[in-house]
Amino acid sequence: MKKVVLATKNAGKVRELREVLAHLPVELLSLADFPAMPEPVEDGATFTDNARIKARYYMQQTGCACIADDSGLAVDILGGAPGVHSARFAGVHGDDAANNAKLVQELRAHGTESSPAAYHCVLLFVDTDGQEIVAEGQCKGEVRTTPHGTNGFGYDPYFYRGTQSMADLTLAEKQAISHRGAALRAFIPAMEEYLA
Ligand code: IMP
Repeated sequence: MKKVVLATKNAGKVRELREVLAHLPVELLSLADFPAMPEPVEDGATFTDNARIKARYYMQQTGCACIADDSGLAVDILGGAPGVHSARFAGVHGDDAANNAKLVQELRAHGTESSPAAYHCVLLFVDTDGQEIVAEGQCKGEVRTTPHGTNGFGYDPYFYRGTQSMADLTLAEKQAISHRGAALRAFIPAMEEYLA
């Protein structure tokens, strides 16, 4: 059976992807099956560039087809920032509290307490012969300087759709409207067709 590596170090994403891709006629592996592999430099200008950098790098390293994803937040008044730098907006990769503090500070520096914004997600499959499947998802909303809710992660307490923040939603509610949910809904049928 064809081996496909889920090329992310995030255990939560691996679990989620495994669950939704379990029915595909492939053997799903993760980077845990390839310990001590150095990470690629994610220096792309777009989410698609970065997903492609990761998928192609791990495909070459593992010799297997790979699926990678890249996601982030784009805030209108900040000209699309933090964008591809979402995970390290305040300098330290994955420091959500510092990233959120910087978001609030930047909004106020622009003289506002809110701005239209969107989450973006790209899922990219690359086969060993270079063939690709790319799927994108977006979730439009508004960022505010006041947090609300305790679910989710990252910028979720500051990202609102109407009166509810993304952190007010259950995981199932979030997946129904999220950028990652939308990308998956486009990605899964394309993968099914490719593998058929
Ligand atoms: P990556 O796709 O794992 O590189 O994550 C990019 C960064 O974007 C994360 O560290 C978060 O800061 C942000 N991000 C991506 N998706 C979400 C989301 O669903 N909620 C909140 N923050 C997110």
